[in-house]
Amino acid sequence: MFETVREPPSPAPHDTRPRRWLVALWLGLACLAILASLAAIPLAWPALLFSYRFDGGAVVVHSDRPIPPEISEVIGDVERRLASSELPAAGPYQVYLCNDVWKLAYFGHRLSTGFGGVTDVYLTRNIFIRPADIRTNAVLPPASWRFSLADRPLSYFIAHEIAHVQQVAALGRLSYFKAPTWLLEGYADHVGKGGEFDLSRSVDALRQASPEMDPHLGLYKRYQLAVEIALRQHSFRELASDPPDLSAVLREATDGGG
Ligand SMILES: [Zn+2]
Repeated sequence: MFETVREPPSPAPHDTRPRRWLVALWLGLACLAILASLAAIPLAWPALLFSYRFDGGAVVVHSDRPIPPEISEVIGDVERRLASSELPAAGPYQVYLCNDVWKLAYFGHRLSTGFGGVTDVYLTRNIFIRPADIRTNAVLPPASWRFSLADRPLSYFIAHEIAHVQQVAALGRLSYFKAPTWLLEGYADHVGKGGEFDLSRSVDALRQASPEMDPHLGLYKRYQLAVEIALRQHSFRELASDPPDLSAVLREATDGGG
């Protein structure tokens, strides 16, 4: 006799196949990670987006447009302005001219493109400047800018940003981070303007609450005035290690009659 041995009924098999929504979620996250990595590559190597390069010694200019020979004069004027900095040189300075304005927002990590330049002071120290005409040593301003650019050519914007590179190199990242905005920006304009500053005119403008003395409207004249006053008695590094109060310095300017 044969006896059929029947296997005991097995429990309902557990479905080990991953659920479709989980697969889709993982795929979606993987795609996002890949896209984010691809988008971040130019942040680390901006030269990928700037095909043209001019090696001006301490100042290396990269551009997304051909660079005309007048760049030598622009760099010469940048160096003239930098001579008014008391901080040690920290070059070579890598300057990227963003003629495609979206690059300014991308590298500046901002939604706005209404600024003149920005520097990645904490990581790469790369400098990014808004669209510019090298032949006339001028930036191309957005419609929102309300003040004259007569005293702010392209070389001013480059020198201003280079001053920030010198500041972070001299102070270190932590002290730079802790330094007050008025001191950092006022000193960067002290350098950017190449030492040109009309003290009595600025004091008058401050007394009259002139719009050009309001940093929220785009100029750093208020901050530069305070820095010019403070630099009479202290070095930039001394001011950074023990910053005076901005309003006290400005009061000294107005009370002292310039
Ligand atoms: Zn600045």
